[in-house]
Amino acid sequence: MKLLFVASECAPFIKTGGLADVIGAVPKALAAEGAQVRVLLPAYPALADQLAAGTEVLRLDTLFGGPARVVAVTAKGIDLLLLDAPHLFDRPGNIYLDSSGADWHDNHHRFAALSFVGAQIATGALSGWAPDVVNAHDWQAALVPLYLRVAGSDVPTVMTIHNIAFQGVFPSATLATLDLPDFAWRQDVGEFWGKFSFLKCGLMLADRISTVSPTYAGELMSPDFGMGLDGVMRVRRDVLSGIVNGIDLDVWNPETDPAIPQTFTSRTLRKKAVNTAALRERFGLEDSGGPLFCVVSRLTTQKGLDMLLEVLPALIEQGAQLALLGSGDKGMEHAYADAARRHAGQVGAIIGYDEDLSHLMQAGADAILIPSRFEPCGLTQLYALRYGTVPVVARTGGLADTVVDANLAAIDTGCGTGVQFTPVTALALEQAIARACALFGRKDLWSGLQKRGMKQPVGWNASALAYLSLFKGLKNN
Ligand code: ADP
Repeated sequence: MKLLFVASECAPFIKTGGLADVIGAVPKALAAEGAQVRVLLPAYPALADQLAAGTEVLRLDTLFGGPARVVAVTAKGIDLLLLDAPHLFDRPGNIYLDSSGADWHDNHHRFAALSFVGAQIATGALSGWAPDVVNAHDWQAALVPLYLRVAGSDVPTVMTIHNIAFQGVFPSATLATLDLPDFAWRQDVGEFWGKFSFLKCGLMLADRISTVSPTYAGELMSPDFGMGLDGVMRVRRDVLSGIVNGIDLDVWNPETDPAIPQTFTSRTLRKKAVNTAALRERFGLEDSGGPLFCVVSRLTTQKGLDMLLEVLPALIEQGAQLALLGSGDKGMEHAYADAARRHAGQVGAIIGYDEDLSHLMQAGADAILIPSRFEPCGLTQLYALRYGTVPVVARTGGLADTVVDANLAAIDTGCGTGVQFTPVTALALEQAIARACALFGRKDLWSGLQKRGMKQPVGWNASALAYLSLFKGLKNN
């Protein structure tokens, strides 16, 4: 089974969120099952070393305004195909946003180019290698099925939705510059309320659609979660499936993690306290005797962190503390920095993106707060489970699928791993925090939650098999 993944991020090379973690981990998990995956990725500046070490396998005289080539290289165990198009991807800063925080003015060209080259490779542009199935990830790769259709190719495609909030919707005039056929503009293809939607195009034309948890797959068909594409999802429900994300167990392993001061296992859980002390020190927090909650997140309303600001006084009143690592919405960044000043010693906030610190937070915190209004899968609760950090989560999407609420029945039967709450309101969040604090006070119950979480299978094994069976079904057709 030969697979081409087309994506805009891949950890550890370039990452803005969970998409990168998934693209960095699934190929290895699929390789363990005998599949060969190549990942087509833009050659951003962060990939300069890999680009220099690779071999040119394709040259295009012109690709949306400049010359381009594809360079093959294997790095960190991943077979990368780097799309080297300096006029589109060789620029500083965020891969999607310019220095003012606005989308790059030519994002439609940049990611149409990625999709176009993905389709070229699928139809045999590389000598000696072509995929059996193409898996396009998120809107940045969503024009692959369209370009394949244009090329008259029947190479099967899977469109994977990592977050339907990001759709790649552009003004209709955009279409004229993308070299697309008229049918792309049809209402049952890419037209979206008078504009053109990359993601809708992919969802309408792909042979299969997958998303990153079963609960999110169901939610996507409802107006509350479909973000305007719920009708499309209902039309295509027969080809839609939800496969929960796993995590890279080599990177996120409390027994070997080089980024934390003290490694530990479920048997040596007491050693976690060394990390907790280090985390408190890093955030300038005193030891209150209460639980230390953490947040590692983009700061957006999706993540419900505006609600957490509202309930901070109640959290502190319970004797609990908060350490937050995040960046994103400027208003929220200021609000958390301000909260840390006002509640110094009880609340700490580091505004920024810091991969190593995110490991210390998972290793040191007692619990992690994830009050998301929607969460396609969520990875931070999976890391938390593995590090004996109890997840306190909104009951939505992948959070609902991966955390078992420690209600009375779950405690009696010994199967709880965290705290879930619904509806997703500030009040319910406050009550969930209170419940977590009460559980924390019962050391026997708390360590039961931690140990069960640590034993939960959060790797890729089961999900890699599910993806493989999806791909095999298409290949056999
Ligand atoms: P999303 O993809 O919606 O941002 P996920 O939970 O699926 O949410 O994945 C987020 C990923 O980004 C996780 O690996 C998390 O550890 C990481 N992350 C988010 N914010 C930060 C930050 N400020 N510093 C370091 N890592 C972060």
